[in-house]
This record gives sequence, C-alpha cells and structure tokens, in this order.
Amino acid sequence: MIQGLFARKCGKCGRGMREGYLADYEYYCSDACLRIDFTDEEWAELASDESDDFYYTDWSDWDDSTDELYTADGRVVTVMLS
Ligand SMILES: [Zn+2]
Repeated sequence: MIQGLFARKCGKCGRGMREGYLADYEYYCSDACLRIDFTDEEWAELASDESDDFYYTDWSDWDDSTDELYTADGRVVTVMLS
C-alpha cells in the first residue's frame, strides 16, 4: 500500500478508493454512490453469494502488476512497482 494513493476510482464521484462495490465492472466507493444506480432491493438480489460480478471488496493489497493508481481526487498516477 502506498500512502495517499488508491487502487481504484469511483465511477460516480470520481474519488480514489481502496474498498467499495464492484458492479459489473463499475466501481462505487460508497453506499451513496451505489444507490445512484441500484436500489437496496436490486443490490440484494444481484449481490448474492454466488455472484462474481456484484460484490463488496477491498483493494488494499493490490498485486504487483498494478501500475496505475489514483489520488484521493481521482487523478491517475503511474508508479513503478518492483
Ligand atoms: Zn463515489
């Protein structure tokens, strides 16, 4: 983990995020952002235990192949990870 940098960026508010929702390849940093596209009921149905496309996760341990990270306000930073 690199201080001040984030592995993903929210698709709604554009902020850097280390944990949040993944919904069909879109990222949502918070409940508030998720609710823009999904109601509670929709999410409960989509994010079932068997779902690989809709879930909550964290990216605090990103792998070494990650070379693009984000600042808190969503700017892309390219870093060298050895
Ligand atoms: Zn957001």
